[in-house]
Order: sequence, then C-alpha cells, then structure tokens
Amino acid sequence: MEDLEQFRLEVRQWLEANCPESQRQPMPPEEQYWGGRRGKFASEDARLWFERMRDKGWVAPEWPTEYGGGGLSPQQGKILAEEMKALRCRKPIFGLGLWMLGPALLEYGNEEQKQRHLRAIVNGEARWCQGYSEPGSGSDLASLQCKAEDKGDHFLVNGSKIWTTKADQCDWIFCLVRTDPDAKKQEGISFLLIDMDDPGISTTPIELISGESEFCQTFFDNVKVPKENLVGELNQGWSVAKALLVHERKLMSEIGSDSPRQVLVPNAAAREYAEFVDGRLADPELRRRLAEYDMRMQAIGLTHFRTFEEKVAGQRSAAPLIMKYAGTEAEKQKSELLLAIMGSRGLGWEGKEFSEAEIDTVRNWAMSYAMTIAGGTSEIQLNVIAKNVLQLPQ
Ligand SMILES: Cc1cc2nc3c(=O)[nH]c(=O)nc-3n(C[C@H](O)[C@H](O)[C@H](O)COP(=O)(O)OP(=O)(O)OC[C@H]3O[C@@H](n4cnc5c(N)ncnc54)[C@H](O)[C@@H]3O)c2cc1C
Repeated sequence: MEDLEQFRLEVRQWLEANCPESQRQPMPPEEQYWGGRRGKFASEDARLWFERMRDKGWVAPEWPTEYGGGGLSPQQGKILAEEMKALRCRKPIFGLGLWMLGPALLEYGNEEQKQRHLRAIVNGEARWCQGYSEPGSGSDLASLQCKAEDKGDHFLVNGSKIWTTKADQCDWIFCLVRTDPDAKKQEGISFLLIDMDDPGISTTPIELISGESEFCQTFFDNVKVPKENLVGELNQGWSVAKALLVHERKLMSEIGSDSPRQVLVPNAAAREYAEFVDGRLADPELRRRLAEYDMRMQAIGLTHFRTFEEKVAGQRSAAPLIMKYAGTEAEKQKSELLLAIMGSRGLGWEGKEFSEAEIDTVRNWAMSYAMTIAGGTSEIQLNVIAKNVLQLPQ
C-alpha cells in the first residue's frame, strides 16, 4: 500500500514535469492522434507528449516492457489513469490497436506477431480497424461469409465487411474470415491480420445523415494474406474474436466518463437552463429524472470499482458482461435528460447561435444511440446476460 502511495507521488511528479500545459486541456476530437501512416499531430506539444509517454512505456502502461509497454500492475495502471485525469492530461494516442487488438494478441498471438504488431501500435506506426460485421452478419456475427481459402503459403481472401470505422485511414485490419464452409458456423472461422495496402483491398466511405463519414464498406478481391498473419489456430478464430469483444465492451462501458467533447453535465445544465423556485428545481418530473440519473451513475461507478477489485483478486465476475449494456444505456439516458433540460437550446446541430457546448451535447446525444449498437446491440447484450449470467433457457 505504501509502495502504491509512493508510486502515485512519483507519477504525479513525472506528469507535472513532462505533460506540456497545452496537453492539459479538454481535447476536441479533431486534435486526437490516432497514429499510423496517415496520423498527424495537432501540434509540436502533442508530438512531444506522445514521445515522452511512449519512451516511458505509458502509452500501453500494463503491457509487458518487452513489447514497449510499461509493465505496470493493474493497481499501478489505475493510479496512472487517475493522476492523468486529475491533471487533465490528454491521452497521447487513440486506437483500436491499443484498446482491442493488442490485449487479444497478448493472449492469442505468437511471439513474432507480438514483437511485430504490439511495438508498432505503441510506437504509433500502425492504425488498426475492425473487420467483423458484414452486410448480412451483424448481431448474428458467426454467420459471416467473407472467405479465406488455403492456397499453400497464403490465404486468398474474398468478400466484404461493412461499418468498418475509419477503414480508409487505417494501415491494418483485423478480420474474421470463413476458412471452413462445411463446419458448424462458429467452428469454421479464423482471425486474420491484413495489411490494408495489399492489392485487392478497397474501401467505400458510407455517408451518414450528418454528412460525415465514419464508416466504410471494405472489399476483398483475391487478396493474398501470408499464413503468418493467422492469429491462434486455424478455424478457432471465434475464441480470439470473443476475447477481443470483451475488451471492446469494457471500453464502451466507460464511454461517458471521458468524452472528448465539451458535453454539458446534467446538474450544472439544470442550473443554467431550467427554472428554479425558492432554490429548488421547479419541474418535479425533471427533479425525479435528475435524482434517478445521479443514483444510476453512483451504482455504475461502484460496480466499476467492484469489477476492478475482483480482477485484481483474480476472481471471475459477470460485471463486464453487464456493464457494456448498463454504461451505454446510461449515457443515452443522460443525453435524453440533457436535451429535456436544455429545451429549445438542445436543438442546435451547427451555427453561431448555439454555443460549442450546446452543439457538442446534441451531437453526443446522436452518438449515444450509436454506442448502444456498436460492439453488439443492447438487445444482444441482454440476450447474452440472460443466457450466460442468469442461465435462462434460449
Ligand atoms: C458507431 C458504430 C461503429 C461500428 N464500427 C464497426 C467496426 O469498426 N467494425 C465492425 O465490424 N462493425 C462495426 N459496427 C457494426 C456493429 O457491430 C453492428 O452494427 C452491430 O453488431 C449490429 O449489427 P447490424 O447493424 O447488422 O444489425 P442487425 O443485426 O441487423 O440488428 C437489427 C436490429 O435487430 C435486433 N436483433 C438482431 N438479432 C436479435 C436477437 N437475436 N434478439 C433480439 N434482437 C435482435 C438488433 O438488436 C437491432 O436492433 C459499428 C456500429 C456502429 C453503430
């Protein structure tokens, strides 16, 4: 315990000495650094901050040092995250490689794959995207059809993936492919790492109602993938896929805690926008919703704390399964509440008549719905909880 307090002190001192002042401000999404061949730093300070964190091993604090990580224990990792939050230090880099593929490779990758890909992620050299969903396979992911045929020294990949976030800006894609069309559906799937520059890969951006384009459809037309890019055993990719989804869902369960946007906070927003009588919020329904929201956030915070303690104690816990559902639904509830509080000020999407925080809050409301779909919809999470936690019949 004393050691951890000492560690906290050292972390605080290091961050104070090394995190430039400009990197201790809220970060608009366009200033995030995602690495890879097309990655750009928003400023020289952002570059310096990334390089210092990388050299310290704190880009991936809990990964082993031999792969460029910091070798920290979960408790130390938590302290680092808390101290960064307290000093408002920006995250030096973002990415699916760091959050999802890296942890899965640590568990399932061979030594060569770990050396090659984990280092590239930590060094900001490779940006990854996720090739799971297909036009006919979303919730029923195991029905996927994108196929990889064994051609001796390589696989030949044909098919397409959809909703591939930022595929057109990524260097690599981790992909689920069908390698045995005759096996039961979960048993004929493999997990491949594919270089987006390989001949035969193309991406088509999908334009959204906002005019922006977060996603692509990704096409594979006779793409040759070296055998060494298979992660885990042939036809056993479903296990890798599920392990990776656990990391994705954990990340998404904490989605509201760390928004890059200047989203309003319900209690403060109520003081600014709602009517008060004798120091009390006038609308009783709004009072009820605010109290309900506060209680839910308290419960979620405590459950995160419990999950962490269970992990440190090496205990199995059902909480991670439940928290993606609870966290993303709570974020949606918060966004709805904010819009109710803001009234007509919650109608702005762009334009000078609305403040940046008002626009960010409305945009975050739209995103909160997307988050209950990405990484497995709320309905599917409830099915999984019913089956795996409550042991209900199919
Ligand atoms: C913001 C965002 C980012 C994403 N990024 C990626 C990415 O990078 N890579 C990637 O591979 N995918 C990505 N996705 C896709 C995502 O994984 C799928 O959208 C999701 O799994 C749902 O699949 P679907 O869209 O095909 O919907 P469907 O599976 O067609 O579902 C349609 C509706 O039916 C419901 N439903 C389906 N089956 C059942 C059932 N058995 N019981 C009850 N209800 C059911 C669903 O809950 C949903 O409401 C992203 C999605 C979003 C929103």
